[in-house]
This record gives sequence, structure tokens and C-alpha cells, in this order.
Amino acid sequence: MKTSFITTFMTLTVMASGVSFAPVAFSQSKFDSQFVGYPTYSGDDLELTVDNSGSHFRLWSPKAQDARVNIYDNGHTGSPTKTLPMIFNKDNGTWTVSVPEKLYGKFYTFQIKWNGEWKDETPGVWAKAVGVNGLRAAIIDLDKTDPEGWDKDHGPEVKNFSDVIVYEMHHRDMSMHPSSGIANKGKFLAMTEKGTHSPSGQKTGIDHLKELGVTHVHILPSYDYNSVDEMNLQENTYNWGYDPLNYNSPEGSYSTNPSDPATRIREMKEMVKALHDAGIGVIMDVVYNHTADNDNSNFELTAPGYYHRHWDDGRYSDASGCGNETASDLRQMQDFIINSTKYWADEYHIDGFRFDLMAIHDTETMDKVARELKKINPSIFVYGEGWTSGDSPLAPERRALKENVGKMTDIAVFSDDIRDAVKGHYTDAADRGFATGKPGNEETVKIGIVAATPHPQVDYSKGNNSKFAYASSPEMIVNYVSCHDDLCLTDKLHKSMEGEPEKNMLEAAKLAQTIVFTSQGTPFMFAGEEVFRDKKGIHNSYNKPDSINAIDWENKSKYRDQFDYYKGLIALRKAHPAFRMTSADDIANHLVFDKIDSSKTPNLISYSLKDHANGDDWQEIKVVFNGASKPQTVNIKKGNWMIVAKDGKISPDASLGSSKGGKITVAPYSALILAK
Ligand code: CA
Repeated sequence: MKTSFITTFMTLTVMASGVSFAPVAFSQSKFDSQFVGYPTYSGDDLELTVDNSGSHFRLWSPKAQDARVNIYDNGHTGSPTKTLPMIFNKDNGTWTVSVPEKLYGKFYTFQIKWNGEWKDETPGVWAKAVGVNGLRAAIIDLDKTDPEGWDKDHGPEVKNFSDVIVYEMHHRDMSMHPSSGIANKGKFLAMTEKGTHSPSGQKTGIDHLKELGVTHVHILPSYDYNSVDEMNLQENTYNWGYDPLNYNSPEGSYSTNPSDPATRIREMKEMVKALHDAGIGVIMDVVYNHTADNDNSNFELTAPGYYHRHWDDGRYSDASGCGNETASDLRQMQDFIINSTKYWADEYHIDGFRFDLMAIHDTETMDKVARELKKINPSIFVYGEGWTSGDSPLAPERRALKENVGKMTDIAVFSDDIRDAVKGHYTDAADRGFATGKPGNEETVKIGIVAATPHPQVDYSKGNNSKFAYASSPEMIVNYVSCHDDLCLTDKLHKSMEGEPEKNMLEAAKLAQTIVFTSQGTPFMFAGEEVFRDKKGIHNSYNKPDSINAIDWENKSKYRDQFDYYKGLIALRKAHPAFRMTSADDIANHLVFDKIDSSKTPNLISYSLKDHANGDDWQEIKVVFNGASKPQTVNIKKGNWMIVAKDGKISPDASLGSSKGGKITVAPYSALILAK
């Protein structure tokens, strides 16, 4: 990892949302406008194809003075066994050369001549297999990496995105702790092991996910990234992976043999297949918005200047906070993002994509990404962070910002509204939110409950973050209270509720997630929160050791009540479509807030889901949230109510008893859910 990357990365999470910038009047800087007329190439045979007529290389680099391919026997040592000069095709800007042999087992790099000199070697931008540390591209037969039964493999069918329940996980967090009972710790294969359990007998790994009931896992970056030395894995280094190196090959450190290019591919496919066999979809976190390196990135070494954005004077612009940003508004970069996601969907059967700092990309590109992916698999779910981490030459109206979600089709954005309102602001560890007794967040929580859609009872002018209904459908919103960034929920509660007994924090955690899982939109949770995992108070744990990041699965015994609550919450959502409405009109017509004066009774929200909302069996569902540190009483309409959740217990099947309505006291930091 580069020092500059470390220092710039530190700022990333601090600025990770809700940042607004002065409008920029132009769409492209003067410097970048020189690239608009470049010839482009959209064929799917870029860089390498192998067929019965041999091995064919095609590098896109319209302004290179010369180009060549170096062939190697090895992934990282020795000299080229052959160097192949390439021929330029000026109509599409590509350089080509072919040999009659299938070069399986060999490795290659490209080199271009620029300003009269050969630049450093690069595996190119389309390496689908790489040697150790991703230095050279590998020539392998991809068909031979398919696990048994791969041709019949598919992820879960998704009718509406509000049916998806996302579980965000890092490979090492899930399996590194000795208590995981998993053999392939920190590897793709960890999620293929069945029957694993903690020393006290609690299910772990894939069995744990099935028991919990989530529909999709969202894996942190799993393409080949830069920061972990794959030749020195005993060093036990950890990284989130937001430092992309080779976008189209899996990360080597998650494989059992990073030096064998096929192993990481086969093992990642085995993970996908095992999850699919368990009925769980796989969403990949993708970071097309910047590269780990600037001048020595594979983009820069193949087509200098083109793929990154710059300011007028030619300096790299840096909307990522990591030293650079990519230029999706230029055709070849736009095509790269579209074709790369299509490749993962097609070759690895990936079921969704989470776009990091999505607003660095333009809305047109994101729209095309979603449309093209739907053609491969209509169940693919695309969502992202609708913000940047710094200013960009791309005009704000073109950015795939949260506020611009309506300009795109089939794209969802994270709601930082609900996140910060429920648990307190992410920039201030001690700040409390609605679920931890701080008044004044009620209206913003309601914005989250209606998935930022227009609603006659929600006053958007009182929103903490957004001031207007930016979503025209709940399928545009992902609700959450924590993710890998910032303090995880347990740590946030420890810091903001310091001095209170742990019991209160456990109750507040349940309440916070109840708000997320009963709200309209798609719910999203961070791995391990169901067992009250913490990260020892470290918010930016991207390169911290496993001792900070790994989940201690003995927590599942210690906090079994917490796990059971989360499991019940997920079962409730899955069984009741009223929590999963698919249109803004439905929400406006069926979700009715009870009148509560927040200035007199703060931290209290009560609403009904009425008239068999979205075809629900239940005629009416009453949802009450008490985020105050004291009990609060609500007056429930008389009737034969079934108690679904009360005082920190949840049961979708009526085992908590019944109520005739009237005055009901709701415990501190808890939810009351009734149904009839
Ligand atoms: Ca790597």
C-alpha cells in the first residue's frame, strides 16, 4: 500500500456522506475535453482471446506511438520468452497481434511507447486471470475453472428489490476468529463449509447465514486489490480492498494459492455456488471510481491521461479522496464499467453490485449499467453510495448522487437520512439519535420509514440531511444504520450511551434495526451486528488486524437473545409484504402516521400499515418506536390485536399473546408491533 493512499484514505470515511459542493459549470475540464474525440472500441475481445486459431491480443491505446506484448513462463519472475510487436488500427484505436498457438499456462504484459519511451509493463485493464500480486496477466482456460454443476447454477430470483435483505461481509471478518470453527479462514472457501460451529455449538459460516435468513450477502471488494502482499500471507495483513488493481480478476489473498491464477477464480466460483445452493445471492462491492495508483495504474500505463479525470491544468482530480477519480463520462471508461460488471454477472453469476462513491460516475453510465445487467439477469440488484468524497470536474447535475436517483432506472441509493437520524451522526461518536434518546430526529426517521418517497404526512423541510422526497419509488432506497465504514452499531452505542448499562445498548440496537427492517425500501445490515459484534471502538478499520475486525462467534451464545431478535425481525419482514411495498402511491395510501407532537413527546413514532397493504394477510399492522430512555404510553385503537413485538421480544407467529388495545406502555429503547 502506498503512503499517499493511506493518508488520503483516512479522509474517505470522514467525508463519506452528505457532503455538498459548489456547482461546477462545466461537464469536462479543458484538459479532459481533448479525449472526447478519441476513437473507441466496444468489442468483447479486448486484450486477450484464445480460440482454435490461436491466441489474440488487442490493446486499446489510440495515442500510443508503439505497442508490444511480452510473454512469460512465470507470473512474477524471469525475462520475457518472447516479445510480440503489435499493429495499429487507427479506426478503433487498438493494437493487435496474434500467434497460432493456444498459450495456456503462459503470462503476458503489455507495453506502450509514449513520448519516445517504452512505459512500464502492465497486465492491461482486462486481465481476467493474473499471477501473484496481479503483476502479469495469465492465459488460462476459464472453462476449466467452473465447479461441478456450474452450468445449472443461479442465484435467487428477485421479484422486487424491496424483497432483498442485504448482509454486508468481509471474508476475513466472517471466518478468521478461532471461534468460527471454519478451516479455510479468510478465504473464499470459508463460505463453502457446512456444519461449522463455535466451541459452544452455535452455527457459524454459511449455516449461520441460513439460520439468520438474509437473502443476499454483499461481499466487500473481492476483485484483485493492491494492498495485501500475496507472497507474504503469513504476515496476516488485513484490508477492506478499496484500492483496485485488476478489476476483472479475483483477489489472490482470498484464495488458497495466489500464485496459481486459476485457483482464485475456481474458489470464488465455488463460494458463489455454495451460497446459491443455500438460496443466498452474492452482491459484489465494486470500486470503479478510482485506482490504487495514479501514474502507475494499469489505466495510465495503457492509455495515458484517458481513464482518469483531471482539472483544467492537468492535475488529477480527486473526488474519491484516494488520489484520483475515473472518467465514466468518457466512452471507453463507460464501456469498461458496463462490460466489467457484465463479465462478473456472466462468468461468476454475481447477483448484484454495490457501487462505491457512485456519484463519481455519471447518471447515464449507471443507467446503462443497470439496463445491460438486466438483460443478463433481471434479478440483479444495483445500488450505491449516492455521494462523492471530494469535488469533481463532473457537473453535479450529471453525478449519480442520491438526489439524482430519479434520473436513473433500477438503481438504488443508501439512505444516510435514516442512518444518521436513528443512531446519531457519523462524524460525532458521542452524538445520539432517535433510537438512543436524542429528540429532534423524528421527521428524518419518518423520511426513512417512507423510503424518501413523497408522503402527505412527512415534512421534508424538517429533514436533517435531505430536504425533499428524492425517491419516486421505495425500490430506489437502501436503509441501514451501519456498514463497514464509521463506527459499527455496537461501538456507536458504546460511545454514545457511555455510562448506561449494556442492556440498554442491546435494546437500542434492536430498536435501531427494527426501524430499518420495518421501513419501506431495502434493508441492509453489517455482518455480526446480530451477535453484537464490535470493532473495539475503531471506526476506520480498513487496515487494522484481525484482532479488531474478526467476529468473535462466542458472542452468538453470549448474545443469543439478540440473534433471535434479528432472526425474528427478518422472518417478520419476509412473511409480510406490507413492509415491502413497491410503489410510492402504495406507501402514501397505506402507511398512515399517528399524530404525535414531537415537541411534547419526543422520540415517539407510531404508524399503521392499513388495508392489507401490498396484499398482506394482516388487515392492519401497528408499528410504534419509543427511542426515549423512559417508558412512553400510546393509545391504541380498541380491537383484537396480536402482539408481534414488545419490550425487546419479537415473534411473527403470535406467541407473545394478544391485546385489546387502549393504553399500552412501550419500554425504553424498544418497538411495539401489533397486528390484526
Ligand atoms: Ca491482490
